[in-house]
Amino acid sequence: MTIQNPVNPVADLGIQNANIHLNPGVDALYAHAIRLGEGVQAATGPLTVRTNKAGRSPKDRFIVEDEKTRGSVWWEGFNVPIQASVFDNLLAKMVQYAEGKELFVQQVYAGTDPEYRIPVRMITEMAYHSLFIRNMFVRPTAEELKTFEADWTVLNIPSFKADPAVDGTRTDTFIIVNFTKKMIIAGGTQYAGENKKGIFGVLNYLLPEKGVMPMHCSANVGEGGDVALFFGLSGTGKTTLSADPGRKLIGDDEHGWTDTGVFNFEGGCYAKVINLNADAEPAIYQTTRNYGTVLENVVLDADGNPDLNDGSLTENTRSAYPIDQIPNIQPGSVGGIPKNVVFLTADAYGVLPPISRLSPEQMMYQFISGFTAKIPGTEEGVKEPSPTFSTCFGAPFMPRHPGEYAKLLAQKVQESGAKVWLVNTGWTGGKYGEGHRMSIKHTRALLNAALNGELDDVEFVRDPFFNLEIPTSVPGVPQDVLNPRDAWADKAAYDETAKKLARMFRENFKRFEAGVDQKVTDSMPNPDA
Ligand code: ATP
Ligand code: MN
Repeated sequence: MTIQNPVNPVADLGIQNANIHLNPGVDALYAHAIRLGEGVQAATGPLTVRTNKAGRSPKDRFIVEDEKTRGSVWWEGFNVPIQASVFDNLLAKMVQYAEGKELFVQQVYAGTDPEYRIPVRMITEMAYHSLFIRNMFVRPTAEELKTFEADWTVLNIPSFKADPAVDGTRTDTFIIVNFTKKMIIAGGTQYAGENKKGIFGVLNYLLPEKGVMPMHCSANVGEGGDVALFFGLSGTGKTTLSADPGRKLIGDDEHGWTDTGVFNFEGGCYAKVINLNADAEPAIYQTTRNYGTVLENVVLDADGNPDLNDGSLTENTRSAYPIDQIPNIQPGSVGGIPKNVVFLTADAYGVLPPISRLSPEQMMYQFISGFTAKIPGTEEGVKEPSPTFSTCFGAPFMPRHPGEYAKLLAQKVQESGAKVWLVNTGWTGGKYGEGHRMSIKHTRALLNAALNGELDDVEFVRDPFFNLEIPTSVPGVPQDVLNPRDAWADKAAYDETAKKLARMFRENFKRFEAGVDQKVTDSMPNPDA
């Protein structure tokens, strides 16, 4: 039920006369979103919306530089400082702009672990964002709501646009995080993913101080209770591979690793659905047919059914659904100490092995390198796949120095004795355009073998260029798939391409060499092998 403005839950911000909907539920949000023209209901049930931006805007995200953040944030790459006055000025304008408007407020948690979760107040202009937030964050119980007090606030008004010349932003779009005021303000973008990634970044900043490793990874748990983590940049398969019929899903994108185990930051999943195949991924496919799901930039056919093969609006079509839409989930979205850690990469060069085992040094190296090929569409302006190195497999969301996260992960892995794997979900038999994408079936078979301990006793060979240990046989996977060189018809072309990628790895790592042990640099790929 929507309670209309009972006590004005945004009064502290100075918003006096807005029409506030506090914690509206699914039915109400469908009605609001449709009334406001944000979207339509697909024939089978999902709320289907179109957004002005089909991906995140990482270049328009800023962090307020002040006493708190100056010495603790790594001011490189995506962590762009901005003056507190810019934030204050924009917030004042937004507050004024919000007067008389309709706003949706959701009181939710970021984090399933009561010890580490943050209560957040998410204030949005768009009803569909409010439903997205309800799906994606952890929903408090009725009991918890009675005493709910937000620690952080997000104010997201897409129709409010900054004037770069006057306001000090880069474009009319902005996402500004203020750690001192515990607030994020956003304007100019309708992409709902900003809501969750903003708060993800906050946890990534706060948790290391408490000895908790925040991770851009999915997680699931096997029948024997063994937990696996799947790190990887966008499009590498975190969501796809964590939804496995034989394992219970903990979460598909963001987790924390505490002294006792892992917990999900979220209460829902956000799956890419372009060309989704009902047979290969039945669980995620079903969510695109369910009532309560938000479908972003998916085209409906003449009968009002989602056409998942239509990428005419964007390749980054998405389904956002509460985690309990997946049939096999872990209650409470928490698990024990991980037994396996998997780094996913979608290598567009087709030269990294489909699976390899990493030494502790190689783990540090791969984690700091964070390699993949960017798949078109998830970020604004990226149309062609291109190689990407992104520290911690998530540089845009990690406010601290990558070395801090790497050290914490290394410590957790060492204490737990977890095994670490690098899995290439990208190309095989040739580079992008010549070879083909690894089959999901093979990737799943490789992963299952690793997670079930079936690779503990097989023989491994070392590939010369990347120095990686490759298993020589895996049940259910053809031999010539395992060693990437065997999968290429033209061996000389393979060697050439592998050397090229090895060089790119080394070039990228130069800026981190001084900060890591000699053993880590010794484990680097070697183009001269
Ligand atoms: P994001 O961080 O943006 O949520 P993600 O890591 O969760 O990204 P997915 O949403 O799982 O990535 O996207 C992987 C995409 O690649 C899916 O569309 C999936 O169908 C496709 N794909 C093709 N081959 C494979 C494979 N071998 N393993 C995993 N995914 C594959
Ligand atoms: Mn995902």
